[in-house]
Amino acid sequence: LRNPVPLPPPTQPLSITQYTLSLLHSTTTTAAASPPYSPATTFLIDAATGRRLSYSDFLGATQALASNIQSLHPSLSKNDVAFILSPPSLHVPLLYFSLLSLGVTVSPANPLSTQSELTHLIQLTKPSIAFTTASLSHKLPSLPLGTVLLDSPQFISMTTTTTAFAQSEPKSHVIEVKQSDSAAILYSSGTTGRVKGVELTHRNLISLIAGFYHNKTVSDEDVPHPVSLFTLPLFHVFGFFMLIRAVAFGETLVLMERFDFEKMLSAVERYKVTYMPVSPPLIVALAKSELVPKYDLSSLLLLGCGGAPLGKEASENFTARFPHCEIIQGYGMTETGGGATSMVGPEESKRHGSGGRLAANMEAKIVDPGTGEALPPGHRGELWLRGPMIMKGYVGDAEATAATLDSEGWLKTGDLCYLDSDGFLYIVDRLKELIKYKAYQVPPAELEHLLQSFPEIADAAVIPYLNGDCLFCVPREVGDVSDQSQVSPYKKIRRIAFINSIPRSPAGKILRRELVSHAMSVASAK
Ligand code: AMP
Repeated sequence: LRNPVPLPPPTQPLSITQYTLSLLHSTTTTAAASPPYSPATTFLIDAATGRRLSYSDFLGATQALASNIQSLHPSLSKNDVAFILSPPSLHVPLLYFSLLSLGVTVSPANPLSTQSELTHLIQLTKPSIAFTTASLSHKLPSLPLGTVLLDSPQFISMTTTTTAFAQSEPKSHVIEVKQSDSAAILYSSGTTGRVKGVELTHRNLISLIAGFYHNKTVSDEDVPHPVSLFTLPLFHVFGFFMLIRAVAFGETLVLMERFDFEKMLSAVERYKVTYMPVSPPLIVALAKSELVPKYDLSSLLLLGCGGAPLGKEASENFTARFPHCEIIQGYGMTETGGGATSMVGPEESKRHGSGGRLAANMEAKIVDPGTGEALPPGHRGELWLRGPMIMKGYVGDAEATAATLDSEGWLKTGDLCYLDSDGFLYIVDRLKELIKYKAYQVPPAELEHLLQSFPEIADAAVIPYLNGDCLFCVPREVGDVSDQSQVSPYKKIRRIAFINSIPRSPAGKILRRELVSHAMSVASAK
């Protein structure tokens, strides 16, 4: 068990919106809070247009939206599900905070999903209403309370207090949200197995944010106001909880509707970004790209990295190019509300290759995946987690829930890890992704990190191939790749293929199934 921090009593009615705003307001009044926040502080900036929203604009718009949603949809009740399909925009944070304050469960999905993928998600979650954009609305079926277009004049007027919709008294205060109520259904990335809807309660999210808040290191007076740039999608757990965290801390957040590496560099320069939550491929790209020297990135002080394994070499290469910028690593899953371990402070960030230490109020053990027996520090096994951040379950999938959560509340992560004697977590690989070569286990992540450390290789993926052989794919022509003296004989790469880019999920995970089927179709065509 790590580092208990105070949580509100579980029976106290409290939504994640109320909790987050209470932290935000205490940030204004706590003398220890630095740098200072005020209602005039900019909360959101649209990187493309430069449009800004201050905290007071945001809070006013959130309240207006909540009461307008109630007036327009009186039958939308607490615990109903709202499906959200949108690229990142200034409207999405407004929508999340308004719906959560009404006790409506938010369920955001990837706008790139196909119609049939969305139909599957909607069957799982059974939403009553959808919020989307004009260009995406054709992908959604009709829902009982209809679809609201986020880019329509009607939605814009719902976020301002001076509209006809807002003439009735705001009703949001009458909704009593329990911490045990569902707050969000997020879709787990589905790189393995079928896509599942992960049900997170207000309590799960409150515990996560409480951990960040109470473990925040108070910065020096002269540290600039934190400005973060999100290249992450807001529908994935990483972007979802980082958004809530930013509000609790009164930070400024720059959103990019569409990811573009060079536009990202330009936004860092223009808005003097201090912090970016990222996935490992972005760290690899920042360490290698020829575009980097064209921009003044000196404001960047911190990268928070998670979602997929980051190699030691990649983080060292990055540090060599950006000596003033720390990388803080974190590990988590949608099923843990996002954060389960993380590093705190500059000392911990020197532990290259580690995912940090356990989040507040959480318990962890490493077990032998065969017997379920707990193993001592230094031994590799499956990581099991327990605590207030662990999901309620997979919506509409009792079988998958029972296979993942045991009767004592332990979540089986499916990740092969070890803990060192100081409690730092090291993630070796996904158990299901281990490649078996003869009787040996080959963790693809280990080889990928090694491959990515070569300047000639922009990105790499290792997957199982025929007869347990391995194949790696790189987007650039490479020189001599025959020197494999750095790995044991059973880990040697036996087949090599070149492709334009490695398919990855929005959180940076390699989409191995796509590569495996690509490799199989090439093999069968031969
Ligand atoms: P998701 O639910 O999409 O966030 O995926 C969770 C999975 O991402 C975990 O079970 C891990 O396999 C992987 N993951 C997340 N963070 C890290 C990390 N820091 N290092 C290695 N793998 C990670």
